[in-house]
Amino acid sequence: MTDAFTATGTAAAPAFVEKQPLGRYAAPERPSLVGMSRATLADALARLGVPERQRRMRVQQIWHWLYVRGARDFAAMTTLSKELRAALALSYTLARPEVAAEQISVDGTRKWLIRLPGDEGGAPHEVECVYIPEDDRGTLCISSQVGCTLNCTFCHTGTQRLVRNLTADEIAAQVVLARDRLGDWGAMGESPPLKGGGERRRLVSNIVMMGMGEPLYNFEAVRDGLAVVADGEGLSISKRRITLSTSGVVPHIARAGAEIGSMLAVSLHAVTDELRDRLVPLNRKYPLRELIDACRNYPGVSNARRITFEYVMLKGVNDSLADAHALVRLLKGIPAKINLIPFNPWPGTTYECSDWAQIEKFSEIVFAAGYASPVRAPRGRDILAACGQLKSATEKLSARERLALRAMAMTD
Ligand code: SAH
Ligand code: SF4
Repeated sequence: MTDAFTATGTAAAPAFVEKQPLGRYAAPERPSLVGMSRATLADALARLGVPERQRRMRVQQIWHWLYVRGARDFAAMTTLSKELRAALALSYTLARPEVAAEQISVDGTRKWLIRLPGDEGGAPHEVECVYIPEDDRGTLCISSQVGCTLNCTFCHTGTQRLVRNLTADEIAAQVVLARDRLGDWGAMGESPPLKGGGERRRLVSNIVMMGMGEPLYNFEAVRDGLAVVADGEGLSISKRRITLSTSGVVPHIARAGAEIGSMLAVSLHAVTDELRDRLVPLNRKYPLRELIDACRNYPGVSNARRITFEYVMLKGVNDSLADAHALVRLLKGIPAKINLIPFNPWPGTTYECSDWAQIEKFSEIVFAAGYASPVRAPRGRDILAACGQLKSATEKLSARERLALRAMAMTD
């Protein structure tokens, strides 16, 4: 949030302000192979003197250990020669990003605070990663940046001053780390568990890029990191099960369709430029009309591959029934899903979450327009009635936080 406008947005619209991401950070002395792409691994092997004719095969073997078996020790990589294992261990590690804190909720939701290298001599950086188990899937919500250069007024991440882009490795490593913490690898020493028809279901089956940061402002790293995640011979989470959420970086939307090929979610939150300018200041650069056009033209969009529109429910701000009608009018003709996200309050925000009765009325209008269950009412009602307070300690996620997370993750 910039100082120039308030959360209620009554101040005159200031010039659009974005923070500058830090250009560099101190990488570890011995880099980790975890999260590396095939090309980077091949370069690493070349530096260790592995002859070119062997590299493809060696990359394939290491790939399997890293991303199918979840190997944490070079000694476990028994298909490699002892010499190669020793050489790898001298120059590289299999380190995962460090977990600074873990919260586990009664319903199995887990949140990890991940510590990443900071500036030379400076404090480390932290991002969040959340796992949300449901009956038919397990969704991992991953981050693309430390902080965010944008300043959406209802978003806590937007208030952080410091921004640095995650590397492609750090993006993919979040999935490896989650599989570690959840015990989500095939048993070591078995034949590969994912071969053939009898596919074992992994706990982490879906990815949403809805953690910290604006993924389309870290385009190359997000593209390359997600390619590692989607690789069918490794982590193997298909692009149909990966959803990238953007606040509306219009010039990169078509490129995302072509080069990343994941499902798309768009943080809409308002149906007029006047309001969206206040909630999502990026709208001043790329107004609604341009955003909606980009969605209409998103490569591969169809009824089978709909765009998810996220709409955070802010009491008295964007939650009138007229807004609901305008929302369905605005999205007419676009293969769309609508996720109504209960606002998750944070210390210092002046916004409040809409009343549950209002969310239901809003949701009924959206439902009547043909959009399936835009919010999970019964479950949400139970949780909201039971709690609705922000967590006081750091032990557990609050009920409201879980509800917001689940609504965000509901992208199929
Ligand atoms: N930067 C990207 C992705 C990360 S945010 C984007 O903005 O789309 C993921 C989603 O959470 C977005 O729809 C965002 O608007 C929403 N969000 C942010 N803060 C929130 C809050 N306090 N309560 C509920 N949803 C929030
Ligand atoms: Fe938050 Fe997303 Fe806006 Fe960034 S773009 S401030 S992460 S809502």
